[in-house]
Amino acid sequence: MQLLDGKAISSQIKAEIKEEVEQWIAGGGKKPHLAAILVGQDGASETYVASKIRSCEEIGFTSTLLRFEPDITEAALLEAVQSLNNDPDVDGFIVQLPLPKHITENTVMEAVDPAKDVDGFHPVNVGKMCKGLPSYISATPFGILEMLIRAKIETNGKHCVVIGRSQIVGLPMSILMQRNEYPGNCTVTITHSKTQNLKEICQTADILIVALGRPEFVTADYVKEGAVVIDVGISRVADDTKKSGFSIRGDVNFNDVAPKTSYITPVPGGVGLMTICGLLTNTFKAARKEIYK
Ligand code: NAP
Repeated sequence: MQLLDGKAISSQIKAEIKEEVEQWIAGGGKKPHLAAILVGQDGASETYVASKIRSCEEIGFTSTLLRFEPDITEAALLEAVQSLNNDPDVDGFIVQLPLPKHITENTVMEAVDPAKDVDGFHPVNVGKMCKGLPSYISATPFGILEMLIRAKIETNGKHCVVIGRSQIVGLPMSILMQRNEYPGNCTVTITHSKTQNLKEICQTADILIVALGRPEFVTADYVKEGAVVIDVGISRVADDTKKSGFSIRGDVNFNDVAPKTSYITPVPGGVGLMTICGLLTNTFKAARKEIYK
């Protein structure tokens, strides 16, 4: 079993981006600028946004955080999105999900200028990705692809099973893994809560990508000997032994599953850190106007 170490890979990618940013600025380019909108005080969202901002500082980006109270109206939030769309200094921005229930996430996502949609959630970017056209690939799937590339994991002709069909992880992942390029060329099965015989399907996976949001759901009996297991899940589970009162668990029971795998991602220290690299890469592409001129 080999660990797909998100900490090591993401540090390497950040160092690479930092160097490229320095060269870009030395050549007269503008400092890339990522903005984030955070609504409310959700603990997990606060942590994610803080870590995105910290990463921006590490690699030489400008970052801006716009905070709003949880009772902000949808109209006011859309105005904030519009002002970032119109701000020439902001290259890309994200609206941290989840949003409060009274706000329709799709409406907000669709209000973001596709050229600044560095999370890759806008239908224009999703559509371009499906057609294999240059686009911002959403950050978590991007991070997973990068892990596969860096570990030189063979994907050609493999059976890839994705658990979960969310717009931000499962669905784009399933599309990317079937593309006619590396990493891709898999035969893909996408599964969800209505899937029958989930365990049997997973047992046939050469590559198992797990994104359902249920801590330690996947146990060794779901996994074929020698499979590659990518655990996207991040759940907070009550833990009295921790000062914070919780610990972070993935969707895979790591200790049970790891001995059967050829490669596996830990949680924490796996896909989560790679997601930030996806966001930083997209923001740098936005600053260089690589996708939208
Ligand atoms: P989501 O929107 O809640 O979607 C969960 C998906 O899992 C749905 O498609 C659901 O099926 C499916 N599902 C639920 N229970 C199932 C079951 N018993 N068997 C099979 N499928 C089942 O979740 P998400 O946003 O993709 O997030 C999934 C997990 O990844 C969460 O823990 C989240 O925190 C984490 N996450 C991590 C990162 C990262 O950077 N590492 C990024 C994003 C998300 P239905 O469609 O039928 O409801």
